[in-house]
Amino acid sequence: MSRYWSDFVTKLQPYTPGEQPKISNLTKLNTNENPYGPSPDVLQAMQQVLNDDLRLYPPPHAEELKQTIADYYQLEENQIFVGNGSDEVLAHIFNGLLKQNKPIFFPDITYSFYPVFCQLYDIEFEKVPLTKDFSIDLGDYQRANGGIIFPNPNAPTGKLVALGDIEQLLLANRDSVVVVDEAYIDFGGQSAVGLINRFDNLLVVHTLSKSRSLAGLRIGYAMANAALIEGLDRVKNSFNSYPLGHLQIAAAIASFKDESYFKQTCAQVISSREQLVEQLQTLGFEILPSAANFVFARHNNELAEVIATHLRQQGIIVRHFQQPRIDQFLRITVGTSQDNQLLVDGLASILA
Ligand SMILES: *Cc1c(COP(=O)(O)O)cnc(C)c1O
Repeated sequence: MSRYWSDFVTKLQPYTPGEQPKISNLTKLNTNENPYGPSPDVLQAMQQVLNDDLRLYPPPHAEELKQTIADYYQLEENQIFVGNGSDEVLAHIFNGLLKQNKPIFFPDITYSFYPVFCQLYDIEFEKVPLTKDFSIDLGDYQRANGGIIFPNPNAPTGKLVALGDIEQLLLANRDSVVVVDEAYIDFGGQSAVGLINRFDNLLVVHTLSKSRSLAGLRIGYAMANAALIEGLDRVKNSFNSYPLGHLQIAAAIASFKDESYFKQTCAQVISSREQLVEQLQTLGFEILPSAANFVFARHNNELAEVIATHLRQQGIIVRHFQQPRIDQFLRITVGTSQDNQLLVDGLASILA
Protein backbone atom coordinates (compact mmCIF):
# COMPACT_ATOMS: atom_id res chain seq x y z
CA MET A 1 0.00 0.00 0.00
CA SER A 2 1.21 3.47 -0.79
CA ARG A 3 -0.46 6.85 -0.81
CA TYR A 4 0.98 7.35 -4.30
CA TRP A 5 -1.15 4.58 -5.78
CA SER A 6 -4.07 5.59 -7.93
CA ASP A 7 -7.55 4.49 -6.80
CA PHE A 8 -7.51 2.09 -9.73
CA VAL A 9 -4.31 0.36 -8.59
CA THR A 10 -5.49 0.23 -4.98
CA LYS A 11 -8.64 -1.64 -6.03
CA LEU A 12 -6.93 -4.13 -8.39
CA GLN A 13 -6.97 -7.79 -7.39
CA PRO A 14 -4.20 -9.30 -9.50
CA TYR A 15 -3.91 -12.89 -10.69
CA THR A 16 -1.84 -15.22 -8.48
CA PRO A 17 0.30 -17.58 -10.56
CA GLY A 18 1.09 -21.09 -9.32
CA GLU A 19 4.13 -21.23 -7.11
CA GLN A 20 7.66 -21.51 -8.62
CA PRO A 21 9.60 -22.68 -5.54
CA LYS A 22 13.35 -22.04 -5.32
CA ILE A 23 14.03 -25.37 -3.60
CA SER A 24 15.41 -28.02 -5.94
CA ASN A 25 14.52 -31.72 -5.73
CA LEU A 26 10.82 -31.02 -5.72
CA THR A 27 8.37 -32.96 -7.82
CA LYS A 28 6.62 -29.99 -9.33
CA LEU A 29 3.16 -30.94 -10.54
CA ASN A 30 1.39 -27.61 -9.90
CA THR A 31 1.62 -25.41 -13.00
CA ASN A 32 1.14 -27.73 -15.99
CA GLU A 33 4.65 -27.34 -17.35
CA ASN A 34 5.90 -30.02 -19.71
CA PRO A 35 8.10 -32.60 -17.94
CA TYR A 36 10.27 -32.89 -21.06
CA GLY A 37 12.61 -30.12 -22.15
CA PRO A 38 12.24 -28.34 -25.47
CA SER A 39 13.51 -29.90 -28.69
CA PRO A 40 17.34 -29.89 -29.02
CA ASP A 41 16.81 -27.96 -32.28
CA VAL A 42 15.23 -25.15 -30.25
CA LEU A 43 18.29 -24.84 -28.02
CA GLN A 44 20.56 -24.88 -31.05
CA ALA A 45 18.53 -22.20 -32.83
CA MET A 46 18.81 -20.01 -29.75
CA GLN A 47 22.59 -20.53 -29.59
CA GLN A 48 22.78 -19.24 -33.15
CA VAL A 49 21.19 -15.92 -32.27
CA LEU A 50 23.32 -15.42 -29.14
CA ASN A 51 25.63 -12.92 -30.78
CA ASP A 52 26.29 -9.21 -31.34
CA ASP A 53 23.02 -8.82 -33.20
CA LEU A 54 21.28 -8.79 -29.83
CA ARG A 55 22.08 -5.06 -29.81
CA LEU A 56 19.45 -4.71 -32.57
CA TYR A 57 15.74 -4.63 -31.94
CA PRO A 58 13.96 -7.78 -33.06
CA PRO A 59 11.71 -7.63 -36.16
CA PRO A 60 8.63 -5.80 -34.80
CA HIS A 61 6.20 -7.90 -36.83
CA ALA A 62 7.98 -11.28 -36.40
CA GLU A 63 7.06 -12.08 -40.04
CA GLU A 64 9.15 -15.25 -40.26
CA LEU A 65 7.55 -16.72 -37.15
CA LYS A 66 4.05 -15.75 -38.30
CA GLN A 67 4.69 -17.34 -41.69
CA THR A 68 5.96 -20.53 -39.98
CA ILE A 69 2.78 -20.76 -37.87
CA ALA A 70 0.59 -19.91 -40.87
CA ASP A 71 2.20 -22.70 -42.93
CA TYR A 72 1.80 -25.15 -40.05
CA TYR A 73 -1.96 -24.50 -39.78
CA GLN A 74 -2.61 -23.77 -43.49
CA LEU A 75 -3.47 -20.12 -42.91
CA GLU A 76 -2.07 -16.82 -44.21
CA GLU A 77 0.53 -14.74 -42.37
CA ASN A 78 -2.04 -11.95 -41.82
CA GLN A 79 -4.20 -14.42 -39.86
CA ILE A 80 -1.56 -14.80 -37.12
CA PHE A 81 -0.85 -12.60 -34.10
CA VAL A 82 2.09 -13.32 -31.79
CA GLY A 83 2.77 -12.11 -28.25
CA ASN A 84 4.72 -12.48 -25.04
CA GLY A 85 2.97 -15.58 -23.74
CA SER A 86 -0.68 -16.26 -24.47
CA ASP A 87 -1.51 -14.27 -21.34
CA GLU A 88 -0.38 -11.14 -23.18
CA VAL A 89 -2.24 -12.20 -26.32
CA LEU A 90 -5.37 -12.70 -24.17
CA ALA A 91 -4.90 -9.28 -22.55
CA HIS A 92 -4.95 -7.63 -25.99
CA ILE A 93 -8.00 -9.68 -26.98
CA PHE A 94 -9.91 -8.58 -23.88
CA ASN A 95 -8.90 -4.97 -24.38
CA GLY A 96 -9.40 -4.79 -28.14
CA LEU A 97 -12.21 -7.23 -28.95
CA LEU A 98 -14.11 -8.22 -25.80
CA LYS A 99 -14.79 -4.76 -24.38
CA GLN A 100 -18.26 -4.18 -25.78
CA ASN A 101 -21.49 -2.79 -24.41
CA LYS A 102 -22.90 -6.15 -23.34
CA PRO A 103 -21.39 -8.53 -20.77
CA ILE A 104 -19.05 -11.22 -22.05
CA PHE A 105 -19.58 -14.87 -21.04
CA PHE A 106 -17.13 -17.41 -19.65
CA PRO A 107 -17.53 -20.51 -17.44
CA ASP A 108 -17.80 -20.13 -13.65
CA ILE A 109 -14.97 -22.61 -13.25
CA THR A 110 -12.21 -21.74 -15.68
CA TYR A 111 -8.86 -20.01 -16.14
CA SER A 112 -8.84 -17.48 -13.31
CA PHE A 113 -7.03 -14.84 -15.36
CA TYR A 114 -10.22 -14.03 -17.32
CA PRO A 115 -11.97 -12.09 -14.53
CA VAL A 116 -8.66 -10.31 -13.79
CA PHE A 117 -8.46 -9.01 -17.37
CA CYS A 118 -12.11 -7.91 -17.10
CA GLN A 119 -11.28 -5.93 -14.00
CA LEU A 120 -8.18 -4.41 -15.60
CA TYR A 121 -10.06 -3.26 -18.69
CA ASP A 122 -13.41 -2.58 -17.01
CA ILE A 123 -15.30 -5.26 -18.95
CA GLU A 124 -18.66 -6.54 -17.73
CA PHE A 125 -18.90 -10.32 -17.55
CA GLU A 126 -21.27 -13.11 -16.65
CA LYS A 127 -20.00 -16.45 -15.34
CA VAL A 128 -21.95 -19.32 -16.92
CA PRO A 129 -22.09 -22.33 -14.56
CA LEU A 130 -20.59 -25.63 -15.67
CA THR A 131 -23.11 -28.48 -15.72
CA LYS A 132 -23.39 -30.91 -12.78
CA ASP A 133 -20.69 -33.12 -14.27
CA PHE A 134 -18.34 -30.11 -14.70
CA SER A 135 -18.83 -29.78 -18.48
CA ILE A 136 -19.18 -26.62 -20.54
CA ASP A 137 -22.60 -26.74 -22.24
CA LEU A 138 -22.29 -24.26 -25.12
CA GLY A 139 -26.09 -24.25 -25.41
CA ASP A 140 -26.03 -22.10 -22.26
CA TYR A 141 -24.05 -19.42 -24.15
CA GLN A 142 -26.55 -18.85 -26.96
CA ARG A 143 -27.98 -15.55 -25.68
CA ALA A 144 -27.14 -11.90 -26.37
CA ASN A 145 -23.53 -11.30 -25.26
CA GLY A 146 -20.57 -8.99 -25.78
CA GLY A 147 -18.26 -11.93 -26.54
CA ILE A 148 -17.55 -15.49 -25.39
CA ILE A 149 -14.31 -17.03 -24.15
CA PHE A 150 -13.54 -20.50 -22.83
CA PRO A 151 -10.53 -22.80 -22.74
CA ASN A 152 -10.79 -26.06 -24.67
CA PRO A 153 -9.98 -28.35 -22.95
CA ASN A 154 -11.17 -26.35 -19.95
CA ALA A 155 -8.80 -25.55 -17.09
CA PRO A 156 -8.72 -26.74 -14.36
CA THR A 157 -11.17 -29.55 -15.24
CA GLY A 158 -9.36 -30.91 -18.32
CA LYS A 159 -12.71 -31.60 -20.00
CA LEU A 160 -13.10 -31.15 -23.73
CA VAL A 161 -15.94 -29.57 -25.72
CA ALA A 162 -16.61 -31.34 -29.05
CA LEU A 163 -15.67 -29.41 -32.19
CA GLY A 164 -19.24 -29.88 -33.50
CA ASP A 165 -20.59 -28.00 -30.47
CA ILE A 166 -18.20 -25.10 -31.13
CA GLU A 167 -19.42 -24.99 -34.73
CA GLN A 168 -23.05 -24.91 -33.50
CA LEU A 169 -22.19 -22.03 -31.18
CA LEU A 170 -20.54 -20.11 -34.02
CA LEU A 171 -23.56 -20.67 -36.28
CA ALA A 172 -25.86 -19.31 -33.57
CA ASN A 173 -23.57 -16.45 -32.54
CA ARG A 174 -22.61 -14.28 -35.50
CA ASP A 175 -22.58 -10.91 -33.74
CA SER A 176 -19.76 -11.19 -31.22
CA VAL A 177 -16.28 -12.64 -31.00
CA VAL A 178 -15.86 -16.25 -29.81
CA VAL A 179 -12.42 -16.97 -28.33
CA VAL A 180 -11.28 -20.58 -27.91
CA ASP A 181 -8.22 -20.72 -25.63
CA GLU A 182 -6.53 -23.93 -26.75
CA ALA A 183 -3.60 -23.92 -24.30
CA TYR A 184 -3.89 -27.72 -23.91
CA ILE A 185 -5.35 -28.77 -27.26
CA ASP A 186 -2.28 -30.76 -28.34
CA PHE A 187 -2.81 -33.30 -25.55
CA GLY A 188 -5.81 -34.94 -27.14
CA GLY A 189 -8.34 -32.44 -28.51
CA GLN A 190 -9.29 -31.35 -32.00
CA SER A 191 -8.44 -27.71 -32.71
CA ALA A 192 -11.04 -25.22 -33.91
CA VAL A 193 -8.42 -23.68 -36.22
CA GLY A 194 -10.05 -25.33 -39.27
CA LEU A 195 -13.19 -23.21 -38.70
CA ILE A 196 -11.38 -19.87 -38.98
CA ASN A 197 -11.94 -19.41 -42.71
CA ARG A 198 -15.68 -20.01 -42.26
CA PHE A 199 -16.29 -17.80 -39.22
CA ASP A 200 -14.89 -14.26 -39.20
CA ASN A 201 -15.66 -13.91 -35.46
CA LEU A 202 -13.61 -16.91 -34.27
CA LEU A 203 -10.27 -16.45 -32.50
CA VAL A 204 -8.14 -19.44 -31.53
CA VAL A 205 -5.39 -18.83 -28.95
CA HIS A 206 -2.35 -21.10 -28.50
CA THR A 207 0.72 -21.09 -26.28
CA LEU A 208 4.18 -22.62 -26.61
CA SER A 209 4.30 -22.99 -22.80
CA LYS A 210 2.63 -26.37 -22.44
CA SER A 211 2.87 -28.80 -25.37
CA ARG A 212 6.04 -27.14 -26.74
CA SER A 213 7.86 -26.99 -23.38
CA LEU A 214 8.71 -23.29 -23.58
CA ALA A 215 6.94 -21.77 -20.56
CA GLY A 216 10.20 -20.05 -19.62
CA LEU A 217 10.43 -18.13 -22.90
CA ARG A 218 6.91 -16.61 -23.01
CA ILE A 219 5.47 -17.14 -26.49
CA GLY A 220 1.81 -17.28 -27.43
CA TYR A 221 -0.22 -16.58 -30.55
CA ALA A 222 -3.73 -16.09 -31.87
CA MET A 223 -5.23 -17.18 -35.18
CA ALA A 224 -8.28 -15.60 -36.80
CA ASN A 225 -9.70 -13.75 -39.77
CA ALA A 226 -7.24 -11.04 -40.93
CA ALA A 227 -9.51 -8.17 -39.80
CA LEU A 228 -9.59 -9.45 -36.20
CA ILE A 229 -5.81 -9.83 -36.26
CA GLU A 230 -5.47 -6.26 -37.53
CA GLY A 231 -7.51 -5.12 -34.51
CA LEU A 232 -5.09 -6.91 -32.19
CA ASP A 233 -2.12 -5.36 -34.01
CA ARG A 234 -3.56 -1.91 -33.35
CA VAL A 235 -3.66 -2.66 -29.62
CA LYS A 236 -0.20 -4.26 -29.57
CA ASN A 237 1.35 -1.37 -31.50
CA SER A 238 -0.10 1.02 -28.93
CA PHE A 239 1.48 -0.98 -26.10
CA ASN A 240 4.79 -2.72 -26.98
CA SER A 241 6.16 -2.91 -30.53
CA TYR A 242 8.56 -5.75 -29.70
CA PRO A 243 6.81 -8.35 -27.53
CA LEU A 244 9.08 -11.15 -28.82
CA GLY A 245 12.88 -10.92 -28.79
CA HIS A 246 15.36 -12.61 -31.14
CA LEU A 247 15.68 -15.63 -28.82
CA GLN A 248 11.94 -16.22 -28.61
CA ILE A 249 11.44 -15.90 -32.34
CA ALA A 250 14.30 -18.29 -33.18
CA ALA A 251 13.12 -20.81 -30.58
CA ALA A 252 9.50 -20.75 -31.70
CA ILE A 253 10.38 -21.26 -35.38
CA ALA A 254 12.65 -24.20 -34.51
CA SER A 255 9.93 -25.76 -32.38
CA PHE A 256 7.44 -25.77 -35.26
CA LYS A 257 10.07 -27.25 -37.57
CA ASP A 258 10.79 -30.22 -35.29
CA GLU A 259 7.45 -31.96 -35.66
CA SER A 260 8.70 -35.41 -34.68
CA TYR A 261 10.01 -34.27 -31.27
CA PHE A 262 6.74 -32.43 -30.64
CA LYS A 263 4.59 -35.42 -31.58
CA GLN A 264 6.71 -37.83 -29.58
CA THR A 265 6.69 -35.79 -26.35
CA CYS A 266 2.94 -35.11 -26.59
CA ALA A 267 2.36 -38.86 -27.05
CA GLN A 268 4.51 -39.60 -23.99
CA VAL A 269 2.53 -37.14 -21.86
CA ILE A 270 -0.76 -38.64 -23.06
CA SER A 271 0.35 -42.18 -22.28
CA SER A 272 1.63 -41.14 -18.80
CA ARG A 273 -1.72 -39.46 -18.21
CA GLU A 274 -3.65 -42.63 -19.01
CA GLN A 275 -1.40 -44.63 -16.69
CA LEU A 276 -1.69 -42.02 -13.91
CA VAL A 277 -5.50 -41.98 -14.17
CA GLU A 278 -5.62 -45.74 -13.59
CA GLN A 279 -3.23 -45.57 -10.64
CA LEU A 280 -5.19 -42.73 -9.02
CA GLN A 281 -8.47 -44.56 -9.50
CA THR A 282 -6.99 -47.56 -7.70
CA LEU A 283 -6.18 -45.23 -4.78
CA GLY A 284 -9.84 -44.12 -4.52
CA PHE A 285 -9.79 -40.98 -6.67
CA GLU A 286 -12.50 -39.98 -9.08
CA ILE A 287 -10.92 -38.30 -12.14
CA LEU A 288 -12.70 -36.07 -14.64
CA PRO A 289 -11.98 -37.25 -18.20
CA SER A 290 -8.90 -35.22 -19.18
CA ALA A 291 -7.73 -34.16 -22.63
CA ALA A 292 -4.96 -32.01 -21.10
CA ASN A 293 -1.53 -32.52 -19.48
CA PHE A 294 -3.12 -32.51 -16.03
CA VAL A 295 -5.85 -34.41 -14.23
CA PHE A 296 -8.54 -33.04 -11.92
CA ALA A 297 -8.99 -35.58 -9.15
CA ARG A 298 -11.27 -35.90 -6.11
CA HIS A 299 -10.67 -38.48 -3.39
CA ASN A 300 -13.69 -40.39 -2.12
CA ASN A 301 -12.95 -39.78 1.57
CA GLU A 302 -9.84 -37.71 2.31
CA LEU A 303 -9.94 -33.89 2.09
CA ALA A 304 -8.09 -32.37 -0.87
CA GLU A 305 -6.38 -29.78 1.29
CA VAL A 306 -5.08 -32.43 3.71
CA ILE A 307 -3.71 -34.50 0.83
CA ALA A 308 -2.01 -31.46 -0.72
CA THR A 309 -0.38 -30.50 2.59
CA HIS A 310 0.95 -34.02 3.16
CA LEU A 311 2.26 -34.25 -0.41
CA ARG A 312 4.08 -30.98 0.09
CA GLN A 313 5.84 -32.39 3.17
CA GLN A 314 7.13 -35.11 0.85
CA GLY A 315 8.35 -32.54 -1.68
CA ILE A 316 5.51 -33.04 -4.15
CA ILE A 317 3.50 -29.96 -5.15
CA VAL A 318 0.05 -30.09 -6.73
CA ARG A 319 -2.56 -27.33 -7.09
CA HIS A 320 -5.57 -26.94 -4.81
CA PHE A 321 -8.17 -24.22 -5.40
CA GLN A 322 -10.10 -22.84 -2.41
CA GLN A 323 -13.13 -22.25 -4.54
CA PRO A 324 -16.79 -23.31 -4.23
CA ARG A 325 -17.66 -26.51 -6.18
CA ILE A 326 -14.04 -27.53 -6.71
CA ASP A 327 -12.42 -27.34 -3.26
CA GLN A 328 -12.48 -31.14 -3.02
CA PHE A 329 -10.37 -31.49 -6.17
CA LEU A 330 -6.63 -31.47 -6.77
CA ARG A 331 -5.19 -30.43 -10.11
CA ILE A 332 -2.20 -32.61 -10.81
CA THR A 333 0.15 -32.01 -13.74
CA VAL A 334 1.17 -35.15 -15.63
CA GLY A 335 4.91 -35.61 -15.12
CA THR A 336 7.37 -38.20 -16.39
CA SER A 337 6.50 -41.78 -15.40
CA GLN A 338 9.11 -41.37 -12.64
CA ASP A 339 7.36 -38.23 -11.27
CA ASN A 340 4.03 -39.99 -11.47
CA GLN A 341 5.38 -42.99 -9.55
CA LEU A 342 6.71 -40.71 -6.78
CA LEU A 343 3.28 -39.09 -6.58
CA VAL A 344 1.43 -42.40 -6.48
CA ASP A 345 3.78 -43.79 -3.79
CA GLY A 346 3.38 -40.58 -1.77
CA LEU A 347 -0.40 -40.73 -2.03
CA ALA A 348 -0.45 -44.42 -1.09
CA SER A 349 1.45 -43.62 2.14
CA ILE A 350 -0.83 -40.67 2.98
CA LEU A 351 -4.03 -42.60 2.34
CA ALA A 352 -2.91 -45.80 4.10
C1 LIG B 1 -1.25 -21.79 -19.22
C2 LIG B 1 -2.46 -21.13 -19.76
C3 LIG B 1 -2.39 -19.91 -20.45
C4 LIG B 1 -1.17 -19.05 -20.45
O1 LIG B 1 -0.14 -19.49 -21.14
P1 LIG B 1 1.16 -18.59 -21.37
O2 LIG B 1 1.36 -18.66 -22.82
O3 LIG B 1 2.24 -19.27 -20.58
O4 LIG B 1 0.90 -17.19 -20.89
C5 LIG B 1 -3.54 -19.41 -21.04
N1 LIG B 1 -4.71 -20.05 -20.93
C6 LIG B 1 -4.83 -21.18 -20.24
C7 LIG B 1 -6.15 -21.84 -20.14
C8 LIG B 1 -3.71 -21.75 -19.62
O5 LIG B 1 -3.84 -22.84 -18.89
